[in-house]
Amino acid sequence: MRDNQELRITRQRQVILEELEGDRTHPTAEALHQRVRQRLPRISLATVYRNLEILAERGLVRRLDLGGGRRRFDPVTEEHYHVRCLGCGAIADVARPPSGPADQGATAPEGWRIVGHELEFTGYCRDCREASPCGAGSS
Ligand code: ZN
Ligand code: MN
Repeated sequence: MRDNQELRITRQRQVILEELEGDRTHPTAEALHQRVRQRLPRISLATVYRNLEILAERGLVRRLDLGGGRRRFDPVTEEHYHVRCLGCGAIADVARPPSGPADQGATAPEGWRIVGHELEFTGYCRDCREASPCGAGSS
């Protein structure tokens, strides 16, 4: 019985990972849940979320806590940067990261220890720019 349960958990985690692998949209847990549910109809959002957190802790996926609210997930775990659309919230990879880690040489405030940094570019995606040619950063 325990084995069955473990098999089920392993299977769930594998499906979640597979669905995320092919997804370049940096989905939220909710968006991923919609997709995973087509393969595992009984899986709950809480289960998807919990598994994503475990996968992130193991370094198999990357958690993105960017501006604009919802936590998102990225199958690409190598260090890279993102641009977030101010119109629709879409997130895309930035092709060329700024040279050198931004936290290198940063001076921590008295008593603090810096262990990482968040850097987010903002802009407007193609869809938003086409929908609003005179706004949305058309220049
Ligand atoms: Zn957009
Ligand atoms: Mn990414």
